[in-house]
Amino acid sequence: MSQQTPIERVYNFSAGPAVLPFPVLEQAQRDLLALPGCGASVMEISHRSKPFVAILEDAKQRLSALLNIPKGYQILFLQGGARLQFAMIPMNFLQGSGKPADMIVTGSWSEKAADEAKKLGTTHIAWDGKPSNYNHLPANTELQLSDDAAYTYLASNETIQGVQFQTEPAAGDAPLVCDASSDFLSRPIPIHKYGLVYACAQKNAGPAGVTIVVIREDLLERSPDSLPSYLNYRTHAKHNSMFNTPPTFGVYIVGLVARWLQEEIGGLDAMDALNRTKAAMLYEVIDGTQGFYRGHARPDCRSQMNVTFRLPTPQLEQAFLAEAEKAGLFNLKGHRSVGGIRASIYNAMPLEGVETLRDVMRQFASQNGS
Ligand SMILES: *Cc1c(COP(=O)(O)O)cnc(C)c1O
Repeated sequence: MSQQTPIERVYNFSAGPAVLPFPVLEQAQRDLLALPGCGASVMEISHRSKPFVAILEDAKQRLSALLNIPKGYQILFLQGGARLQFAMIPMNFLQGSGKPADMIVTGSWSEKAADEAKKLGTTHIAWDGKPSNYNHLPANTELQLSDDAAYTYLASNETIQGVQFQTEPAAGDAPLVCDASSDFLSRPIPIHKYGLVYACAQKNAGPAGVTIVVIREDLLERSPDSLPSYLNYRTHAKHNSMFNTPPTFGVYIVGLVARWLQEEIGGLDAMDALNRTKAAMLYEVIDGTQGFYRGHARPDCRSQMNVTFRLPTPQLEQAFLAEAEKAGLFNLKGHRSVGGIRASIYNAMPLEGVETLRDVMRQFASQNGS
């Protein structure tokens, strides 16, 4: 273990857990044996100790500043990933409400969330993208909303298909509930339009194990007392995410990521601009190769985070992946339900990584028929 091996980081296009900002990893490495002034790592101290409480408060404050979260909302750090939110949301707001949940189903993740909600109450599919293989999003006029929904649910970015809402759907009066797992902190969010926004951290905000929930306080009143304590949002709000031991290391890394966004990127508008630049580089190649690359998402619904496309044959897709690896580009294979290639270009993917991918795509297309 004592031998130093040179650090060889590749350009990692993994959909999740995904690339983290290099300065964040360096900071975590410096702090790993002992947090300054603490004599122990963040993993070894009480969650109720002064240093950890300060870390949690700092992470909350930075997220709040970055997202411009208005008064009347709380930030919670939970566990169980996005999947537990698929269940907690209907447990807290649907079960026993006597109302339906309007589900906007635009890809694999919102489909799974709808399946889970259905176990706990009445769901109404307000729009279903499945017949078109989840390649586009609904226009507002296509949404079939209930008169009296408990909430309207959407996923802002479908990680597997690579479709992303550019603005909030017009969802009427019901609280809007959003799975922002794969585009959280990639651009500003008008939080005031939402009742609840949540994100598992491991796509764009930190390591697996922590899930961030931003919830409007009036919704906390709706949670039934009969719920097990951990599954009730009110419990976590009341205990400032310290009802039980929170995922301390995850909260610490989320705080570092938020600091990186503030101090090195310059906030979410700047991050958004950078993300648009990166995504445009790849979509330009897709559009410019006369059908050699075929994007999965309809152009007006394209994701800035997950760029999904096919090549003319599975053989060419294999060859492309091999070519990409030679150039240091890894984890580009698409999800099996869509096939082809998926380039996940989250916040922490450097511009140079995307430039290299763009160059490989151009060269591969010109050598193989376009
Ligand atoms: C990854 C992902 C999930 C699932 O997250 P887990 O933490 O594994 O439960 C849900 N929704 C979206 C949009 C995702 O990208």
